[in-house]
Amino acid sequence: MRYAILGDIHANLLALEAVMTTAKARGVDRILSVGDVVGYGAGAREVMDILRDNEVPTVLGNHDAAIAGDLDTTFFNPMAKEAVQWTQGQLTEGDLDWLHELPLLLHLDGCSVAHGSYSDPDLYKYIQSTEDADPSLDLQPEKVCFVGHTHVPVSILRMQDNPERSFYTMDEQVDLSLVDKALINVGSVGQPRDEDPRAALGIYDTSTQLFELLRVEYNIKLEAKRIEASGLPKMLADRLFLGV
Ligand code: ZN
Repeated sequence: MRYAILGDIHANLLALEAVMTTAKARGVDRILSVGDVVGYGAGAREVMDILRDNEVPTVLGNHDAAIAGDLDTTFFNPMAKEAVQWTQGQLTEGDLDWLHELPLLLHLDGCSVAHGSYSDPDLYKYIQSTEDADPSLDLQPEKVCFVGHTHVPVSILRMQDNPERSFYTMDEQVDLSLVDKALINVGSVGQPRDEDPRAALGIYDTSTQLFELLRVEYNIKLEAKRIEASGLPKMLADRLFLGV
């Protein structure tokens, strides 16, 4: 089985179309999403339609939960809050129900999926160190768990010959055949924050056990124009060019 794993799409239609094209060209069997499909961008309805049409299994991100009315936005920054309200105004009852019913965790053939962490999926913790990852690595039943949330790609690994020690790598290709447990952040499709504005996607082949992180160019200018025309804060358009 060859999976494409999409992180933090954030209603960026053109970035999603670009990574879907790449996934299909790579002969992917199944596409997964680690959540935050909406919020920030102007293409909420279009993005949700693409995920539904392609039957993409998706977990619930914190922005998805806030937009569905299931998460308090007190700790959201003002721009994120504004995007939550704007998006709620775009969606139908059916769309909101779809978000509301997304699971916090998914278990598929050989991998788990969570938004922030496997260990506390409803708390939306940021995994930014091996210590942050350890509770998830201890608990996850599958060898690999895919996450997003920070919008920064990184893999945290424990090897079979030394499963007590967790370490991280920013390598874009990771061979999981000798790995005991892996927590892999696939970066963000729609709002990368690692100063590389290209859309990110992960590809994982369960037969070779190779994981690869790809970056894909898309028409940022046009997507930024769509945000500016929508009435969302202009900063949400500007940051796409910088990858922050
Ligand atoms: Zn996000």
